[in-house]
Amino acid sequence: MERIAVFPGSFDPITAGHESLVSRGLNIFDKIIVGVGVNADKHGFLPFEKRLELIKSVFKGNSRVMVKTYENLTVDFCIENGASHILRGLRTSADFEYERSIAQVNKTLRPQIDTVFLLALPEFSSVSSSLVREVIHYRGDARKFLPLGIDFEYFFGYNPDNQ
Ligand code: ADP
Repeated sequence: MERIAVFPGSFDPITAGHESLVSRGLNIFDKIIVGVGVNADKHGFLPFEKRLELIKSVFKGNSRVMVKTYENLTVDFCIENGASHILRGLRTSADFEYERSIAQVNKTLRPQIDTVFLLALPEFSSVSSSLVREVIHYRGDARKFLPLGIDFEYFFGYNPDNQ
């Protein structure tokens, strides 16, 4: 049976840390579904279509990675997609405290779904979407924190080389 994991998040935008987690997750799972949670109350930085497009551009050519949005509970999204696990990353002890309660609630809701945590690599442990948003807002060069080869001008509306 195929082992499928959902990697849920806001991905606003996807960072090099997220990309690293998916790559490492592929050593454990046959397939990873990057699930972009749609929160109607939260407008966010990039529109959902752009977030999806950006994630797809990062994993294009890799048939083991799929990208989808969802609006229901993460555990229900897992079941709909035949996933047995949720993949999450841990950067800090604060991440751990936050993730523990979510994972425990998810386990109570749907005991057949388990959460697997991977520790962030040291080089990505300070990288977050919020940090990237801040750098981009002030027109800094965020490329060191983003997956390689993204079309910066298309996704973020300016070219860091011309700043
Ligand atoms: P959320 O809004 O649910 O926190 P994020 O898009 O910020 O979603 O993150 C999704 C997942 O990716 C979380 O498990 C988070 O801990 C993990 N993650 C974020 N940044 C990194 C990183 N630099 N290295 C490893 N994991 C990360």
